[in-house]
Amino acid sequence: MSGDPSDFKPLPRRNGKVQPRKRQAVGASTPSAPRRSGRSRSPAAPVEDAAPAPRARRASRKTERNPFGWLKYAAFSMVVGIGIYVFANMQPLPPAAPPAEFTPDPDATLVPTEAPFFIFPKFPELPTPAPTPKPTPSVPDAAIVAGHWAPESGDSVPAVRDSGAICPDGLREVDINKSVADKTVALLERKGYRVQLLQEFDPVYKDVNPDFAPRAFLSIHADSCLQGADYAYATGYKIAHAAPSDNEQQDERLVTCLTRSYDKVAAKYDKPFNANTITRNMTEYHGFRKIDPTTPAAIIELGFLGHDREFLVNHQDEMAQGIARGLDDFLKGQTCLPPTATPPRRETTRP
Ligand SMILES: [Zn+2]
Repeated sequence: MSGDPSDFKPLPRRNGKVQPRKRQAVGASTPSAPRRSGRSRSPAAPVEDAAPAPRARRASRKTERNPFGWLKYAAFSMVVGIGIYVFANMQPLPPAAPPAEFTPDPDATLVPTEAPFFIFPKFPELPTPAPTPKPTPSVPDAAIVAGHWAPESGDSVPAVRDSGAICPDGLREVDINKSVADKTVALLERKGYRVQLLQEFDPVYKDVNPDFAPRAFLSIHADSCLQGADYAYATGYKIAHAAPSDNEQQDERLVTCLTRSYDKVAAKYDKPFNANTITRNMTEYHGFRKIDPTTPAAIIELGFLGHDREFLVNHQDEMAQGIARGLDDFLKGQTCLPPTATPPRRETTRP
């Protein structure tokens, strides 16, 4: 509205002189309102038109008085400030090279000759959060997997995802595995080793955990419940390492130490080393691929739940002693090679 040419209002004259326009208080009863409404062509308009008019004019007048607002003072102060700052920071030229006989004053304060032209203010550095210490790789002396075992939180009864072999009468592989594993861990700890009992799918794996590098890794399992004359071969134990192996020499030494020691127990009950039933389930055991690949690792099948049932159920202490002794030999660095014979054959003939 203030831009409308028809909005022009002559200054009030008194005695022929132009009088400065007085400031008007906010309100509808300003002298200009009636004039404006009087000029309006629409008689119905005044009431609506008159009210906002003083406010708009007041704003425009204020703008005329101070077209830049406070910004011009701020800009001026900034320009002056920068000038002072630059002047204050101007560096004198570096002094000419001192004469040859010049002896520098040892007490003189060193002045950097290449001081920066602009000195940037240093903001206080935010305290850097201390880097979270990387957990040291778990290096127990031995890690023992209780095959198929998985604990149920808040319950002492073992729960399993896959209990492994189960006999018709309910004898479960997982219960034998867990019992022998517990006994083995206890025996090794009594010898002073740091031993870690693992679940079949232990959280330490995190699928693949190359930082988990125990000095020796052994997974304890038992075999199927096949019974009868048709399954006469289903007896005995076997121990195998990964194939292919990333640490063949140590893997082989671990298997040899375990075999030599466990065989003393198994032979006592006529349980042979059953090389013919070593399967890819053993040589490609998932745990081998989830730990440090150079960790000496092996898997043992203690015996068959069917034909070796009595051995597996009633001689677990001796079985654990055989395993613990084999691990002890390995951890002590023994070669474990038998004095005369070659180690038993462990070729896979049944894929
Ligand atoms: Zn198993």
